[in-house]
Amino acid sequence: MQELLAGYRRFREEIWPREQARFEALAAVGQSPKTMVIACSDSRVDPQMIFAAAPGDMFVVRNVANLVPPYMPDAAFHGTSAALEFAVRVLRVERVVVLGHAQCGGVRALLEGAPPAAQDFVAGWMSIAQAARAAALRCDPADRQQACEHAAIRVTLDNLLTFPWVAEAVAAGRLSLIGGHFVVATGKLMLMGPDGEFSLA
Ligand SMILES: [Zn+2]
Repeated sequence: MQELLAGYRRFREEIWPREQARFEALAAVGQSPKTMVIACSDSRVDPQMIFAAAPGDMFVVRNVANLVPPYMPDAAFHGTSAALEFAVRVLRVERVVVLGHAQCGGVRALLEGAPPAAQDFVAGWMSIAQAARAAALRCDPADRQQACEHAAIRVTLDNLLTFPWVAEAVAAGRLSLIGGHFVVATGKLMLMGPDGEFSLA
């Protein structure tokens, strides 16, 4: 905790003075981000840092392996779907970026099975991307992890379109859906093209 408090003190001393006006304006008028990012919880992949974004710029939801389940308006606790609903229907963001990354532990769990200590939720959650696993298993073993990361992003983009208000906004040209993949070792971002393949941004 000392480490966190030391970081907080640096925030107050170094960052707050130059960002104070921005925070005060955001507090007074509220947020109106144009972008929603769905990213992995992985500590190495911070969307705000990667896009050099400021507070107020991006509405972010992070979960294991940046997945979105299909539209299921039932009584279960749909945290990611709730964030999506708020971003698309209330904040009316203009784009949703699904940001995957290299060496994703969630994707590894999908390919190789969840670690024994992560059976209660991780295994079930990752089953959202079962189709990505099937596609990746057809690849050369050396390429499987990345192929599965890319395929899981495509699954999430497909699942986004099962939300009627997402599909409607996309059809009306009010919303775009973007796939990205961040390579931790190089700091480089790959973007998904119309053909579903990823290339350097
Ligand atoms: Zn991950």
